[in-house]
Amino acid sequence: MPSIFTRIINREIPGHIVAEDDHHIAFLDINPLVPGHTLVVPKLEVDYLFDLEDGAFCKLQLFSKKVADALEQAMPCLRIGVSVIGLEVPHCHIHLIPINSMDDMNFSRPKLNPTQDELTVIANRIRQILDPRS
Ligand code: 5GP
Repeated sequence: MPSIFTRIINREIPGHIVAEDDHHIAFLDINPLVPGHTLVVPKLEVDYLFDLEDGAFCKLQLFSKKVADALEQAMPCLRIGVSVIGLEVPHCHIHLIPINSMDDMNFSRPKLNPTQDELTVIANRIRQILDPRS
């Protein structure tokens, strides 16, 4: 069965997509730790990040860097925190989190539950920075 992220990639379920190329996608986490929490995902459905072959792993990091740069401009913060967990969704992904304190990276904390409209506003802001013509 395809992962929930593959279903977002295939547009079978909605996602607030901020960036995409042939091999990667980035979209907002539906239950963010902080506003702007973004997931960067390879389209190839591999569970464990470190099982990606070297080339795919490096390209995913470069794609993440581009998204992180835009995210930092869109969501003023001290920096973008990076985390890999993967205990919930078995399709590897990188969490990019706009942080102002260590606690912003605390995955044990209750998550936020933003409205679709709130997610749309943030996704548009990030997309605009990545592609000002969008
Ligand atoms: P992890 O697998 O790294 O432990 O966590 C998976 C992350 O994916 C969680 O932060 C969770 O909120 C997010 N997530 C789970 N299901 C969906 C979904 O259907 N859409 C989006 N955008 N995010 C999801």
